[in-house]
Amino acid sequence: MEIREVASHVFAALLPDKGWSWSNSGFVARGDGLMVDTHMDVATTRRALAGFGDAAGTTPERLVNTHHNVDHCWGNQLFRGKEILAHRRCAEAMEGDLAPSVIQAMLDAPELPPGLAWFADDVRAFDFSDIEVTLPTRTFEGDLALDLGGVVAELIHVGPAHTAGDVIVHLPAEAVVFAGDILFHQCTPLGWEGTFDGWVAALERILALDPEVIVPGHGPLAGPEGARDLIEYFRFVHGEIVRHHAAGLPPDEAARRIDLGRFAAWTQPERLVFQVDRAYRELRGGAMDEPVDFAALMDAAVALRRHWDDA
Ligand SMILES: [Zn+2]
Repeated sequence: MEIREVASHVFAALLPDKGWSWSNSGFVARGDGLMVDTHMDVATTRRALAGFGDAAGTTPERLVNTHHNVDHCWGNQLFRGKEILAHRRCAEAMEGDLAPSVIQAMLDAPELPPGLAWFADDVRAFDFSDIEVTLPTRTFEGDLALDLGGVVAELIHVGPAHTAGDVIVHLPAEAVVFAGDILFHQCTPLGWEGTFDGWVAALERILALDPEVIVPGHGPLAGPEGARDLIEYFRFVHGEIVRHHAAGLPPDEAARRIDLGRFAAWTQPERLVFQVDRAYRELRGGAMDEPVDFAALMDAAVALRRHWDDA
């Protein structure tokens, strides 16, 4: 984990992108302090808090979750008794989300289908034994502005994009945006609820804020070019998918036909299958909040990787 001061009194805890669930967090060390997201487990979140404490000489009294995915909230219990903020839809999704025991059972299983085995390999570095899912204590609709000792932090709802309850944290005076999983930087995105247009609009909203630094949910620190890059990726793959869909190709064949070009260098390019699934769902008029078949998509991703390796 690397702790970086991205602006005066503003910090990011960056994990190397070693695949599924290797996420980043942030800390605005003004006023009572605000942490942006926790991590996949308690130990990693504790490390981030210790790093922030060393760098800033203080630790946060308040937390905001940018969305409900477990790699951004399974350290929440370290904020028990303090304020935990989230968009209403984030809090609702968190309440119905999977339990740590489900992932532990996956890790303990003698055999797994290839997709889940891949996921298990990525998350084996985390500890699921002591996680107590801890929900937000205060929810909001739309946007919410916080005063952190004279520093303004705007919590802006931009979902559905990656999930329905997506929130970004904007510090106007510092020109910093904590993007949560609206920005995957130099790693292949994947989304759960929402549309391509919705996600691109969220990225354009970030660019309109004119940030100097964007802290992504995954991957290294970015500037505006990181958001522009992801928009370009979405426009390119969406165009390709629409073309292959119109030609009547099934999703797995559409994924195989796409030449990712420079985007193939992003980590886990086989997550392309999530983009194909989202586009096909949109094209058949499916509800954009219907749950994706995670295990099946993960198997499809592994099959795509094998296809590339054999080619
Ligand atoms: Zn994430």
